[in-house]
Order: sequence, then structure tokens, then C-alpha cells
Amino acid sequence: MLSTMQDDVPLTISRILRHGMTVHGDARITTWTGEAEPHRTTFRATGERAAQLAHALRDELGIGAEDRVATLMWNNSSHVEAYFAIPSMGAVLHTLNLRLPAEQLVFIVNHAADRVILVNGTLLPLLAPLLPRLQTVEHVVVVGPGDTSVLEGCTPQVHEYEQLLAGRPTSYDWPELDERAAAAMCYTSGTTGDPKGVVYSHRSVYLHSMQVNMAESMGLTTADTTLPVVPMFHVNAWGLPHAVFMTGVSMLMPDRFLHPGPLAEMIAAERPTHAAAVPVIWQGLLEELAATPRDISSLKTVTIGGSACPPSMMRAFEDLHGVRVCHAWGMTETSPLGSLAHPPGGLTPEEEWPYRITQGRFPAGVEARLAAPGGGFAPWDGASPGELEVRGPWIAAAYFGGVGEEPLRPEEKFSPDGWLRTGDVGVISPDGYLTLTDRAKDVIKSGGEWISSVELENALMAHEAVAEAAVVAVTDEKWGERPLAGVVFKEGHDPVPYEELRTFLGKTIARWQLPERWVTLDVVPKTSVGKFDKKVLRRQYAAGELDVTKLG
Ligand code: AMP
Repeated sequence: MLSTMQDDVPLTISRILRHGMTVHGDARITTWTGEAEPHRTTFRATGERAAQLAHALRDELGIGAEDRVATLMWNNSSHVEAYFAIPSMGAVLHTLNLRLPAEQLVFIVNHAADRVILVNGTLLPLLAPLLPRLQTVEHVVVVGPGDTSVLEGCTPQVHEYEQLLAGRPTSYDWPELDERAAAAMCYTSGTTGDPKGVVYSHRSVYLHSMQVNMAESMGLTTADTTLPVVPMFHVNAWGLPHAVFMTGVSMLMPDRFLHPGPLAEMIAAERPTHAAAVPVIWQGLLEELAATPRDISSLKTVTIGGSACPPSMMRAFEDLHGVRVCHAWGMTETSPLGSLAHPPGGLTPEEEWPYRITQGRFPAGVEARLAAPGGGFAPWDGASPGELEVRGPWIAAAYFGGVGEEPLRPEEKFSPDGWLRTGDVGVISPDGYLTLTDRAKDVIKSGGEWISSVELENALMAHEAVAEAAVVAVTDEKWGERPLAGVVFKEGHDPVPYEELRTFLGKTIARWQLPERWVTLDVVPKTSVGKFDKKVLRRQYAAGELDVTKLG
């Protein structure tokens, strides 16, 4: 028996856009400019400009259904226009990660066969040298000021964004699309092999946006202003630009001003109530505020994810600034919301902490299981580890195989019965809280037992002298592998003897897990999306480039 509901109403991005620009037309998008006045606009005006962009793309640049239109842009209101215009007209938005090495960017643009690139003028020096190698790009649209002389003589046609939009109709007859059609794509930063493209559908974006908005997720309302520091090229800024158009939450966009100083200034001036970012950015903000106090009292909650958030940092934000950090887990393949660490009700603040420092609980749209090391699945007992596998309506089932090619389902990423293998190792408690202990490839396998590099890092970063710590496995004759601890000392703090750090670790970590090998680093190497890049550390160690001390 079929339902009697309007199941044929497709869940499309144009519906989110229409809703946002009408019901929440006055909600604001403020973009930091680094000048006296930020750029201010509304959802209504953004929707009207999205329509103008769609007209320009179709009528002037010849973009049609399924064509890929790329963006190489910061978080700003023009990027939001592209976010809605491109998928709503039936084309596919391809956000390019501007921090990727040139080789990978070239690979990605060619692989996706992008026909147009929208680029912020400030990023032209990055794009221009790549253009001769971009085989499919016919048009470059320059958004905002920048030195266009670097584009002289390039093959693609160059357009200026404002001129392209000027005079075009401010409404567009958005086509009724299949909700399963491609809406946007994003390549994973690819620690091994070529980057892999995840293609989100209208349906997955729509359902994910509803999840972002739930109280047990980010739970924002029209009274809120969110500051997505997480880039719009990193898993759609965690879904925030779409989600806010559903609920009328205003946005403060940082554009290219992502250093702690300007971030602190824009928070003080524009008073957002929520922010979303990876831990390294927030660590920097803490240090900035310690050096130069600013009023960040408007911030009530901050969603932090993308890599493990050190509990010491969560405490510091709460104790020093009254900001409640919500820890979340996700990946490019999961849109990204996979889990969020809201504690159960009825607990005292102190009792909440053991829940809040986990990676959190899965929302109803995400099913999870742990593939046990010896086969089968580990129980949810909070103690038995396994590789996390997930499935659900906003989880990838495959990677983009290239134009006209079949999707890719490498067996290390997808189980035979269609679950995503996350590569993350952890345990799940009986009440559904996930605690990640490592990346499958970062676990330290010492004498047949597993040591969690993340646990050691978190414990080290709780020491008052340590700014950052990264722990990697190094080969050891006796034990197979042992941990090497790399520490970055806080500015202005004298280095602490390694013995003292080891004793400090011994308060919370079993003796046999304590590292013998130590090295002081200037900085922990980071990937293009701000995560600890442990392969660089491993390579430096293998090449004998690190000044390692071995304790007895
Ligand atoms: P990406 O696709 O670049 O967003 O990377 C996803 C990966 O980041 C996950 O598979 C995890 O390894 C890691 N990650 C994301 N959030 C967390 C978190 N809260 N704690 C630990 N690791 C995380």
C-alpha cells in the first residue's frame, strides 16, 4: 500500500533557497572585509543575486544541466550566491580547496571536468599559473577585487562577476529536479593516492540541513548569528549555509581573515552567538585572547570537529570565556555530520564532561557499527574497539569515477553490503556515544596491543607548557611499534624536560603506553584542512631529520 502523502515533492536546494529568501528574507549575511565596514546583505538579496547568477551562467556562459561549475572562494556572501544558484539551476557546484597543492588542484579540476571557475580576486595568483593545465575550463569569473593582469593571455574567457550579473532578472524559474541528482561535489584531501570526489545529491543536502538544525545538533534559531570559520570548500562549511536558509539564522562570514587576531576582532564587533571550526583554529584563538583580551561574550556555543578536540581546550573555553564547545565527528563522505557530543539530560555540569569529550552520539540518520579487528562486529560496550562503519541518507555510497565512468567503490572504503568504512577506530558505549581512539593507520601497535595516539596527544596537550602534541608510531625492534611524541611548547613557556612530561602522562595513561622517544617541534605539520599531518612527521623521522631524545 502506498502512502497518501505528497511523496513526489522532491527535496531540492531550490526549495531551501525559496524558503530562506521569502520567510527569512531579512536574515543577514555579513562578510568581514578587513576595512571599517563589513559587507552586509540579506537572504532576500542573496537569493535575487543567485537568480542573476543562474541567468548569467545559462545565457552568457552556456551552462546547462549537470555541468560542473567550480568555486575557488573564501567564505563570503558571493560564495553563498553560487551555493544556491548552481545546484538550483541543475548544474553541479564544485568547491575547490584553495589550500591543496597545485598538482592536486589541477587533478581535481580536470577529473571533475569543470567548465567554469568562480574565483575570488584575491586568489588569482593561485589560479593563474594553473590555467594552462586545466583542460576543460572555458570561463573564469573573477569575484571581487584583485589583480586581473595575471590572467592576460589565458585561454579561458575572463568575466567580472558584477558585470556578469548586472541587469539580469532577479528571479529564476528553477527547474523541478530529481532529488537524487548531483548538487555539489567535494574532493577529499587524499592522504594517499589521488583525491576522491564525493558527489552530494539535492536530497542528501536537504536531509543533512534538517539534521544540522536539530536541537541535538547545532540547534540554531532566528535569534542566532553563526560564524562558519570552517571553509565553504571543506564539506560545504559543515552544511551551515544550506541549514541557515531553512531556519533564518544570520551568518557572519570571515572571508580570508582566518587568523586569530581578525577572528577575535570580528567576534567582538559583530557578536555572533555560534561558530564552527576545526580545533587548531580555536587553539589559536585561545592564545590570541590570552595575549590580547577581546569581548567574545556573545558566543554561546562553538561546534568543533574535523579532528579530535583536546578536552583541555574545551575546558579553557568554558572556564575562561563562558563558551560551551560541542565536539562533533564527521568526514567529507558523511556530509559531514556523523555524531555530536551532547550529554544526556539530568546531569550536573561536572557529570556531563565524560560525555562531552567523546565524539558524541549518532543522529537518527546515521547508522553505525564497529568492524572488530578479528572479524565480525564489536559490541557497544564502551571497551571493544573496531573500525567505525556508517550508512544513511547523507553518507557516500561511492566516489565519483570521472565523466562517463562508473562510480568507484574501493573495498577499503566500502563494505560489500554498502556501508562506508570510515578508517576511524574507536569504541561505542551502550548508550551510543562514540569515542575515537585513532585513525586505523595511526594506531600504535605495540607488542600486540593498541596504543591510541589521540589519547596520548590529548593528555600531553593538557600540560600547561604544551601548545600542541602529535604522536606517531615508529618501528621498534622489541615491540614492533612504539609511540614517538612530538611536542610544541607554548610561546613564552620554557621547554619542560621530557621526563617531567612523561611523569605527567603517567597520571592518566598506563605505564606501558608511555613514549620513550621525544622530539620538540616548532609546529605540528598540518594538512590543507588544518589536521595534524602525521605522515610528514613519520617521513621526517624515517629520514633522520628529527632530533629525537630516547628516555631510558
Ligand atoms: P575530512 O574528510 O577531511 O573531513 O576528514 C575526516 C576525518 O577527520 C575523519 O575520518 C576523522 O579521522 C577525522 N575527524 C573528524 N572529526 C573528528 C573528531 N571530532 N575527532 C577525531 N577525528 C575526527
